[in-house]
Parts: sequence; C-alpha cells; structure tokens
Amino acid sequence: MASRLTLPAMAAAKPRSTPRKPRRWRYPAGQEADYQRRLASIAQAAIGAVEKHVLPALAGLRQDDIQNTPESEGWFESLRRAFVSALAEAAVNNTQANELVALVASRVERYNAQQYHGLLRQAYGVDITKAEPKLPQLMRMWEAENVGLIKSIPQQYLDTLHGRVVAAVRKGTSLRDMTRQVRDTYNLPRNRAELIARDQIGKLNGDLTEYRQTNIGVKSYLWRGVMDVREREEHVEREGEEFQWDTPPPDGHPGQPIRCRCWAEPKLPLLDDLDALIVH
Ligand SMILES: [Zn+2]
Repeated sequence: MASRLTLPAMAAAKPRSTPRKPRRWRYPAGQEADYQRRLASIAQAAIGAVEKHVLPALAGLRQDDIQNTPESEGWFESLRRAFVSALAEAAVNNTQANELVALVASRVERYNAQQYHGLLRQAYGVDITKAEPKLPQLMRMWEAENVGLIKSIPQQYLDTLHGRVVAAVRKGTSLRDMTRQVRDTYNLPRNRAELIARDQIGKLNGDLTEYRQTNIGVKSYLWRGVMDVREREEHVEREGEEFQWDTPPPDGHPGQPIRCRCWAEPKLPLLDDLDALIVH
C-alpha cells in the first residue's frame, strides 16, 4: 500500500502554481462492503441465537399448539430466560467491537489518504504534505459511536422481538403462527446492519475529506454526486454547486446525510496559497 504512494512521487514533474481540475475523489466502496459483511455476521449470530434459544422455548410453552394463552404466568419467565440466553450468545463484547471498529476506521482512513494525496499530486504535479493533529480524535469519535452501534444490533433486535413474542403469546397465537412471525423478523437486524455500514462509512469518509481539505486551506468545494439510481433527488440537483466548508447545506456536507456517497471536489487555491508543505 505505502509503495503505491511513493512511486509516482519519484516520477513527479515540476510543480504547477495553478492547479489542474481535481480528479474524482473515490468513495471507499470496498471498505463499505467489508463493514457490511462484518455487521451482517453479527446480525446473523442474533438470528442463530433466536433459532437456538427462543424458538425451542416457544415450542416448550405451546406443546398443545391450540389457540389459547397459557394459564400460568410461568411462560413469561421461561421466555425471559430464553431471551437472556440468546442475548448472551449473540452479544458483541467490548474487545471484539473495539478491534473491529479500529480495523475498519484505519482502512477507510488509508483509502481516504490515498485519494487525497493522489488528487493533490495530479492537480499540482508535486506531493503535498501537512501534519494532521486532529485526525486521531476524529477517528476515536467515530470508533466510539460505532462500538455502540455494533453492540446495539443484537440488543435492539432481541428487545424488539421479545416485546412482539410476549404480545403474541398473550393473544393466544398458535405455535405455528408465532414461529412464522418470529422468522419474519429476521430481516430487521440484517437491514439495520446494512444501513449502519452504509451510513457510517460515508460519514467517516466525509469527515476525513472535510478535515483534510480544510487542513490545507481549502475554503469551498463543488458538490459532486455518484450519479446513480441510489443518489437522492436533492443531491442530484446540487451537482456542481459551490459550498463553503464553514457553511454546510441544511443536511450537512457530502457524506453526512444518511447513506450519502456524494463527494466534495475541492476548489483548490494557487500552490503558493496552500497551507501545506510541498515535497519535491
Ligand atoms: Zn449524497
């Protein structure tokens, strides 16, 4: 990875004081897919725990499979224990969550750094470098938020499911219908895992881009979309419009709105006006 950054630099021509039009700052789609896969397996573990603990408990309390509410309240306690076991099995501990977010954040950061350095080198003909003192804090904030989100995938799902199952038992739902209803909820944690991955990679990438551009003295950018079917109408309409980094649009800079994959094409200053070091 590192050698890809240094090789073109050695072949760099003389600097351009007026920058070329910046090339596309690519979205970390591979990192997003990777995060999605990892979160999907956490969702899958929660589903597996429901199959292993909750469905057998339901079968245990509805052996007759006739439509009535169990008379004793013992069923409530058996169900509660089944959900406690399911959560214990599917829960993500702090160490696992911390390792996962640190790995993902560092990959997104590296990818963003490649885009940033590549864009500047192509625009100015030389390598640009600048210390990034606020980078660790930016990453730690994202990581802390994502540890919470990861841990909430099994917790929130099992909590929702518990409420639904209790209501179904109270209504006298048959075992067959309850089993079907439980399995119909399996898309909930899967969808949520996918949403988190898409949203959070876009946010981290957007925050890194904002920091890196403003850090070298870029004041504004042109809004650029990915121009595909997933891009929202308001962002398509914004294509090419100029925004100041200190004055975000109502829904935020590119990457901040939920699941946004748009990017900010920097309005690059003259080389002399850049707040950075030039590496010849
Ligand atoms: Zn967008």
